[in-house]
Amino acid sequence: MSEFLFPPAAPPAAPIRGRAQRFPIHRIFCVGRNYEDHAKEMGAAADREAPFYFTKAAEHFIVSGSTVPYPPGTKNCHHEVELVIAIGKGGFRIAEAAALDHVFGYACGLDMTRRDLQAAAKEKQRPWDLGKDFEQSAVLGEIAPAADIGHPAQGRIELRVNGETRQSGDLTSLIHSVAAVVAHLSHYYHLQPGDLIYTGTPAGVGPVHPGDRLEGSIAGVGTIALQVAAAD
Ligand code: MN
Repeated sequence: MSEFLFPPAAPPAAPIRGRAQRFPIHRIFCVGRNYEDHAKEMGAAADREAPFYFTKAAEHFIVSGSTVPYPPGTKNCHHEVELVIAIGKGGFRIAEAAALDHVFGYACGLDMTRRDLQAAAKEKQRPWDLGKDFEQSAVLGEIAPAADIGHPAQGRIELRVNGETRQSGDLTSLIHSVAAVVAHLSHYYHLQPGDLIYTGTPAGVGPVHPGDRLEGSIAGVGTIALQVAAAD
């Protein structure tokens, strides 16, 4: 058996509510524009035909409660609070009616976004990676097992910055439901245990600044917090 050239990094893993075990993160998928009011504020029409996706490296996960430096290369880093699906059972070409069987649990997440770099990429029809897939950009709260909380189809989703409410919506406004997203994505990937799916954000996205305290919540699911420090 060959040895590694250098020690591999420990796998990223998220806390699970009520359990000592952690959830090892395999991949991070993110749905774009999944609330009509957010699609409108971004100057786009909501696409009701099919969801679309971008990805973040699993290594870009950061646990709720962390302090992160303001990210490099941007002057307009935004918060996007989102319901996150944690896949517990793999599957390929999953029927929508069976999709929830593949979900281990749910969490409140933040899809941090370098909006200026994303906008520049859109303008030039380039990939979104620099805008979306950067270090510590996938913030995640405790995963609540579906065995404990069920599968949330409604509930207020909110984000506050320094105590002031910036984003507020309800899971009932999701264009593509949890089951629809899991089923659809599974036609393009063999979903595996450890995959996370960020399901999109409601309206009210906006900039964060060094010193800001972000606090989010999804009723019946959980909470999230992030402290933004000075750039490093
Ligand atoms: Mn997002």
